[in-house]
Amino acid sequence: MDNQEAVIALHNVRKQYGSFVAVHEANFSIGRGEFFALLGPSGCGKTTTLKMIAGFEQPTDGQVFLEGVNVSEVPPHKRNVNTVFQQYALFPHMTVFDNVAFGPRSKKIQETEVVRRVTEMLDIVRLGEFANRRPSQLSGGQQQRVALARALVNYPSALLLDEPLAALDLKLREAMQIELKRIQREVGITFVFVTHDQGEALTMSDRIAVMSEGHVEQIGSSADIYSRPESLFVAGFIGSANLLPGTVVSSDGSGIRVDLVGGTQVVVPVGNSASNVSLAAGAQVTVVLRPEHVHFDPQGQVSVSVTDSVYQGSSVRIVGRMENGTEVSAIVGVEPGVRAPLPGETTLMTWHPEIPYLLAGWPEMAGSTSTNVDSIEASL
Ligand code: ATP
Repeated sequence: MDNQEAVIALHNVRKQYGSFVAVHEANFSIGRGEFFALLGPSGCGKTTTLKMIAGFEQPTDGQVFLEGVNVSEVPPHKRNVNTVFQQYALFPHMTVFDNVAFGPRSKKIQETEVVRRVTEMLDIVRLGEFANRRPSQLSGGQQQRVALARALVNYPSALLLDEPLAALDLKLREAMQIELKRIQREVGITFVFVTHDQGEALTMSDRIAVMSEGHVEQIGSSADIYSRPESLFVAGFIGSANLLPGTVVSSDGSGIRVDLVGGTQVVVPVGNSASNVSLAAGAQVTVVLRPEHVHFDPQGQVSVSVTDSVYQGSSVRIVGRMENGTEVSAIVGVEPGVRAPLPGETTLMTWHPEIPYLLAGWPEMAGSTSTNVDSIEASL
């Protein structure tokens, strides 16, 4: 994507506070009409990146382009982007209509055009019948949609959203994810949103930039990032994974043979690996198995002693230990006639031959990323 097609482009953008680097050389473009997420744990630099696009922060180095124009020195109110924050900051004494009309009226747009635009936006966010209410007479989700309508009514080149759903309850948040996506499709404006919630990013985004410690680790579609992570960080942060360290034994047309630490051999299909994996014999690698791809079968490959078996309605979550002590987890469907293994049982874990995926290096913690409370807490 060159600068002309891109609505937003970052060229070698770096942000430093004193000696601390909050964002390291970010280089990426966001296309017209794209729903783009900046995703990562707290402190990874996603809000700082968004603020540099909005103009609330200046890059220490590098340039920000909007519609092909270098805006690095342009103040926020002169950039054709709008930001929706966690706190909606609606004017409490004004009606919904007047809140949304505030922007166009202060730009001295003709009142008939203001009415047309506000009516259009309130329809898009499905609040037409609430036009005369005040914000205090609305639910959290409705207030959120007023804030969106107010930001969209000026037809910005891009809408920037900083954890826009964080203040909402889980069920409402899930419904609003679908609603936000619908609104974005309808208005066709580029949305860039910051979230630490990977489920939210996977649900809404066309593309996701996964950030860690100021670095953009990977950019791709939800499916790319989930099924073809490029690093141990991305594999562990997006969804849950069993990370099984091992060493490459050999590689040929029939697959990549990996000796897992502790003895078992796993064959990884050719091509199922991150781009930086060395296939040389002796290379340290990690086999990734997603819990939903693991099942239990008398013909299975790896012995697991089950420690927990938790019924979750549509599935059963099983946690167990391999013979080398590594903890693994599996999600198995609840099906008639299929009995999930119980705590205390030893069973055999297996997977479809196309499933194993290979990453370079060894993880800090081998095994399931969804059961280690300390490492999960550190990644929030
Ligand atoms: P969160 O979800 O917690 O907001 P984030 O990924 O959005 O996290 P940023 O707000 O971008 O993170 O902050 C990135 C790093 O830069 C953090 O370590 C933060 O403490 C630091 N930082 C942010 N703003 C400043 C500032 N004005 N002065 C010094 N350090 C800052």
